[in-house]
Amino acid sequence: MGGIPVNVDSSWLWIAVLVTYSLWAQIHLRYPSVSSGSAVAYALLAAVLFFGSVFLHELAHAVAARVNGIPVLGITLVVFGGYTSARSDEKGPGPAFVISAVGPATSLLLGALFWALSRATAPGPLSGAFGYVGWVNLFMAGFNVAPGLPLDGGRMLEAVVWRLCGNHRRGTRIAAWAGMVVGGLLVAGGFVQFTRQSDFLWLWLAIVGIFIFQGARGSERQIDLRERLAHARVADAMDPPPPAIPSTMTLSEALDRYLRGHESEAFPVVEDGKVIGMLSFSSAREVGMHDPLRPVRDALIPLSEVLTAEAEEPLEPVASRLGSGRAALVLRDGELVGAITGGGVLRWASSGR
Ligand SMILES: [Zn+2]
Repeated sequence: MGGIPVNVDSSWLWIAVLVTYSLWAQIHLRYPSVSSGSAVAYALLAAVLFFGSVFLHELAHAVAARVNGIPVLGITLVVFGGYTSARSDEKGPGPAFVISAVGPATSLLLGALFWALSRATAPGPLSGAFGYVGWVNLFMAGFNVAPGLPLDGGRMLEAVVWRLCGNHRRGTRIAAWAGMVVGGLLVAGGFVQFTRQSDFLWLWLAIVGIFIFQGARGSERQIDLRERLAHARVADAMDPPPPAIPSTMTLSEALDRYLRGHESEAFPVVEDGKVIGMLSFSSAREVGMHDPLRPVRDALIPLSEVLTAEAEEPLEPVASRLGSGRAALVLRDGELVGAITGGGVLRWASSGR
């Protein structure tokens, strides 16, 4: 669809069957004169319009992101609606607000359109189907502007606070708290109403509330992590240093004592207490093959080709440089004080140290 990948979660099929069935039952109840076959047709029509409306809501987000020059990773349609994957906050609070707002605005427009269609059609199952789709769209518009992450209204709130305070993280945090409140209220209210009326709409609302609560808490945790990363130094998340090889040791001794059995690793080499480079199995063997008694210093991988970080450097840029698979030596005034890996950063982040 215009280069935007659309994924439909398999749960959608079951929801489609459920929606069609409940619509069919309603049409039967309301318009007893309509034949069963036509009732199925009307139910299918309403279901298609219903799912088409959800899709158009997501498509509006995707198009607004594209217009603002933000790549859209895809649209996913799931049980309770859909979501659009795009880094919608990439271009500042203004575009972020617009990208979030166009979804509910589209639902509102569709709601008005189907309401008008329902009015323009003679009373009967067709008009009823239009009316139903109109109400669903109005509900989607209203529900999605509830001011809590991960709903559209939460993203709008985030963008507003971001613009007012000039602080993106504060916007996210406030919108995440609001999302936990909205989710909690939905869960509590939904369950209470369900025990009173046992209408499945309430149970569905409670389940959606759980998703919203979890989404909001996830956003808050991410903010916590980013804030901790922003204030942390490399030294906070580093592991103890790997064993270091003295630069004067012979290559044959280094091969025996350090490198054999660790063919894929490299070890730091120190001279006068400072790291001068690293030694790997292959770099040691290249020189050692001809003259095993030459010192380690002669087979060095120079420090300029080694990933290093300063102990007092901010952690965030180092962590993003490392990614998940790489490691760096941590130095303080040239002295080896530790090693840092992407895995180590994750461990530090989850430990709450
Ligand atoms: Zn939306």
